[in-house]
Amino acid sequence: MTDCTYCGCAVEAHDPVYVAEGAPDAAQTAFCNYGCLAAHVEAAGLAVGTTCEVELPDGDSPATRDDGDRSESQD
Ligand SMILES: [Zn+2]
Repeated sequence: MTDCTYCGCAVEAHDPVYVAEGAPDAAQTAFCNYGCLAAHVEAAGLAVGTTCEVELPDGDSPATRDDGDRSESQD
């Protein structure tokens, strides 16, 4: 029997998900299902600051500020 990392239930009683961090053959962490995995990730803040790539739509405020500065200096 393996206990769920998040809720402590026996994962075999559910639809278990196993996570190996760092390498495919690393020590596995067990969860009842994706729900417990997701809840654990959320509760432990594991996804914070770990995004591979982020595309933030910016340019609106700098462009607006640029235009404002230009018209004021010409005035
Ligand atoms: Zn669980």
